Amino acid sequence: MILINRRGMIMEMDTKNILSTFAQACREKGLRLTPQRLEIFQVLARATDHPTAEILHQRLIQGMPTLSLDTVYRTLGTFVDYGFVNRVETSASQARFEVSHVQHHHLICRKCHEIIDFKWQSIDSAVLPEEVHSWGKIERRNIVVYGICHKCLQ
Ligand SMILES: [Zn+2]
Ligand SMILES: [Zn+2]
Repeated sequence: MILINRRGMIMEMDTKNILSTFAQACREKGLRLTPQRLEIFQVLARATDHPTAEILHQRLIQGMPTLSLDTVYRTLGTFVDYGFVNRVETSASQARFEVSHVQHHHLICRKCHEIIDFKWQSIDSAVLPEEVHSWGKIERRNIVVYGICHKCLQ
C-alpha cells in the first residue's frame, strides 16, 4: 500500500489507486474480495485517527446497516493476517487499526489517546543487535512514544 501520510493526516490519497492496489494484492494473495471487505478496507483507508473496531463499525453501519461488529472484528483480523492492516501497539485494552502504508512510528497521548504518525529514519535504518537477527526474521519495526500532547497540556 502506498499512502502518503504525515502527522496522522493522509495528505495525498488517491482512493481509486489504493483500492486497485488492494484488489490486486487480494488476488495475488488469494483473498476473496467481497463488497463488504472492500467497504471495510475503504473506510479504514480514509481514516486518519487509527480507529478501534467499534468506531470503524459505527462509521460503516451508516452505509451498511446490517453489518455486525463481529464481522468487522473478523475482517480486520483477516486483513492483519494478510498484512493489509496494522494493529497499532498501544497500552490500551482496545486495539487500534490502520491500513499498512509507508514505514512510520506512533506518538500516543496518554490523556486523549490520540495516535499520530511520525517518521524516524535513523531508527528505520539502524543496525539491529546481532541477537535480534539470530532470533529470527524481522518483518517490521515500530516504535511507540508515549506522552501528553500539546492540546492536553494546555
Ligand atoms: Zn492529548
Ligand atoms: Zn500509524
